[in-house]
Amino acid sequence: MRKTTFLKKLEEIEIIIKKCQTCHVAMVDQYGKPYLLPFNFGYDDGVVYLHSDQTGKKIDILKNNPAVCINFSKDHDLFMANDHVACSYGMAYRSVLVYGNVEFITENDKKIEALNIFMKQYVDRDFSYAEPSVKNVCIFKVKIEDFTGKMYHHENLE
Ligand SMILES: Cc1cc2nc3c(=O)[nH]c(=O)nc-3n(C[C@H](O)[C@H](O)[C@H](O)COP(=O)(O)OP(=O)(O)OC[C@H]3O[C@@H](n4cnc5c(N)ncnc54)[C@H](O)[C@@H]3O)c2cc1C
Repeated sequence: MRKTTFLKKLEEIEIIIKKCQTCHVAMVDQYGKPYLLPFNFGYDDGVVYLHSDQTGKKIDILKNNPAVCINFSKDHDLFMANDHVACSYGMAYRSVLVYGNVEFITENDKKIEALNIFMKQYVDRDFSYAEPSVKNVCIFKVKIEDFTGKMYHHENLE
């Protein structure tokens, strides 16, 4: 079995991203200190959509420094060659890193578009949104500027 496969095409990493339930967003605060949070997300056409409250530590950080690295990872399977030998154990995975800059979405119509994309990641149905909810939620997007994809101990994308 080929142990490590690097993924070079957007179409390949999209297959992994679209099957993930969560991602981890890494950011860097004003002192150069890393901060990483788990998020739910939506994805469409090279853009990751995120949502949150309007305030909090991450919003302060992202307003000051919009650069992020986001990890999507799935299909974590423990394997071993010999169950008595610790060094023969490993973890299979499919994983993607994307890099970009956060852009805050402020127009109501655009926020609703983003919320629809977001919900499609989890449920295959349409929703309507109350105006105050749309107003109160903070929506931001990250256009993928660079990416790497890696599969370990998985032969195929699916
Ligand atoms: C699976 C999953 C999915 C999530 N999806 C979303 C999402 O889509 N949108 C969203 O806004 N939030 C989501 N969260 C929660 C998110 O990870 C943060 O906890 C939340 O956004 C608050 O972040 P903040 O920087 O505003 O925290 P603040 O309330 O400003 O943080 C205060 C302090 O709490 C600590 N803290 C904050 N978050 C965490 C955490 N997750 N774990 C441990 N310590 C923490 C930090 O050290 C921070 O200094 C998700 C969490 C999980 C586990």
